[in-house]
Amino acid sequence: EILETGWNLDNSYARLPELFYTRMNPTSVGSPKLIVLNEPLAASLGLNVHALQSGDSAAVFAGNQIPEGALPLAQAYAGHQFGHFNLLGDGRALLLGEQITPQGERVDIQLKGSGQTPYSRRGDGRAGLGPMLREYIISEAMHGLGIATTRSLAVVTTGESIIRETDQPGAILTRVAASHLRVGTFQFVSQWGTAQDLRVLADYTLQRHYPDVETAENRYLSLLQEVIKRQAVLIAQWQLVGFIHGVMNTDNMAISGETIDYGPCAFMDAYNLATVFSSIDSHGRYAYGNQPQIAAWNLARFAETLLPLLHDDEAQAIKLAEDAIANFADLFHRNWLAGMRAKLGIFNEEPQDKPLIEELLSMMQKHRADYTNTFRALTLDTAEETDLFETAEFVQWHELWQARLGRQQQSTADSHQLMRSSNPALIPRNHRVEAALEAAVEQGDYSVMERLLAALSSPYAHTPEQAEYSTLPAESIRPYRTFC
Ligand code: AMP
Ligand code: MG
Ligand code: MG
Repeated sequence: EILETGWNLDNSYARLPELFYTRMNPTSVGSPKLIVLNEPLAASLGLNVHALQSGDSAAVFAGNQIPEGALPLAQAYAGHQFGHFNLLGDGRALLLGEQITPQGERVDIQLKGSGQTPYSRRGDGRAGLGPMLREYIISEAMHGLGIATTRSLAVVTTGESIIRETDQPGAILTRVAASHLRVGTFQFVSQWGTAQDLRVLADYTLQRHYPDVETAENRYLSLLQEVIKRQAVLIAQWQLVGFIHGVMNTDNMAISGETIDYGPCAFMDAYNLATVFSSIDSHGRYAYGNQPQIAAWNLARFAETLLPLLHDDEAQAIKLAEDAIANFADLFHRNWLAGMRAKLGIFNEEPQDKPLIEELLSMMQKHRADYTNTFRALTLDTAEETDLFETAEFVQWHELWQARLGRQQQSTADSHQLMRSSNPALIPRNHRVEAALEAAVEQGDYSVMERLLAALSSPYAHTPEQAEYSTLPAESIRPYRTFC
C-alpha cells in the first residue's frame, strides 16, 4: 500500500530576486535513518504520520530525495555577529519549500545540516546528532511554554560522522518556521541589493507576516512598528521564563517574531541578570539581563535597512525610525510587567507592583534562589525554596504580597489559577537535557528524551509526574557551559 505523504509545497521565496538565494540540492548522505518524528506537528502540517513512519521519509528528511513540489535553495543573509557585520547565508541549511497546511498557513520546511552551500565559508555544512536533538528538545519546550518559536519536525542520522572536538554522528534536523526572514536578510539586501530589491523584500514580508498593515498609510513604518511589537512580546516572554538565547546576532532574529536558532541557548537556574551559558560569549554581551537592550540594538539595525522606504527625506526617515525604536523599551517593559503580575497572581494594576516584584527578584538574586522553582513554590504554596523563604525579609515581603492580593476583587483561588498558568512546573533544565542527549547519542536510548519531551509539552499542568524535573543539578556540574 502506498500512502500519500501529504507534501503540499509552494515556493514563494524562490520567486523573489535571484540575489536573495542560491538554488541547489542537498548533498546526499550515506545511510539515512529516521530517529525522531514530531507526530502532532506532522499531522497539523497535513502530513500523513503513517506514511512518514512506514515510507521512505528518512530519505526526504536527509535530503537524499526531494519531495514533490520542493525547489531547494540556500538563503542569503548578512548579520552582526557579536557586533561585527558579516556576509553569512545558509551555510548548512536548505529551504525545501513552504508547506501550505490544511488551515491555509504557509510555513518554511528547512533541512539543517544538509551539506555545504556557497555560504559555508570554512564550514562542513553538517550538524551533529547531539546539537540537533538539543534544538528539537528546547524548541518543543518553548512551544509548550506558549512562546513563539520555530518547530522541529524530524531528526535523521546520516550514517556519516562529523569532525568536531570529538567525532559525532551526523544528523539533519527538519525545521518548521513561519519563515526564515531575519533582520540579517534585510541587512543583506540593503547592502548588496537595489532599492527595488529592498522594496520587494519588504512587500513580501508584509504580505507574509503583517497583512493587517499592508494597506497602512506608511506600510514600511507599520512593518517596523509591528516587528518591534512582536519582539517586545517575545523578549518579555523569554525574560519571564528565564530563557537565554545565547547568540542574539542579527541573523538570529526572525522578522516573524519567532524564537530561532537554538545554539548555545539555555534556561537560567539561579536568578541572576548576569547569567551567561555560552562558552563563546566571554564578555556577556548576550547575558540574561542584556537581552532586552540587545533586541533594541538589533531592531535599530533593522530600522536602518528600512530608511530609504520610510520617507523620501532622509532626516524625516531617521526621525520616524528613531521614534519607533525608542518605543521598544516601553513596549517590552509593559509586557514584562503584565507577565510578572500574572506570575504573582495579580489581576489589576497598582503603582507599587513594580517595586514589589523587584524586591522579590533582588531577594532571589541575593540568596541564589532558583528562578523557576521559586515561582513554582509560590504557586503551589509549598516551602521548597527554604533558604530564601526562611529569611525575615522574605516573610515580610510575603505579607505585603498577600495584602496586595487581598486588594483585588478576584479570590485566592483565582490568583492560584492565574499563577499555575503563568509559572511553569518545569523548564528544560540543563542537566536533564544533557542526560537525555547522552542516553540518545551514547546508548541509542531515546526513552529519556521522550519522557522529558512529554513532561515539557504541558509545563503548566503541574502534575505529580513533573515534580522530578524540578530537582536542581548537583553543585559539582555547575557552572554549565554551552557550545555553538
Ligand atoms: P549560527 O551561529 O548557527 O547562527 O550560524 C552562523 C553562520 O555560520 C550561518 O551562516 C551558518 O549557516 C554558518 N554555519 C554554522 N555552522 C556551519 C557549518 N558546520 N558549516 C557551514 N556553515 C555553518
Ligand atoms: Mg544562525
Ligand atoms: Mg545555529
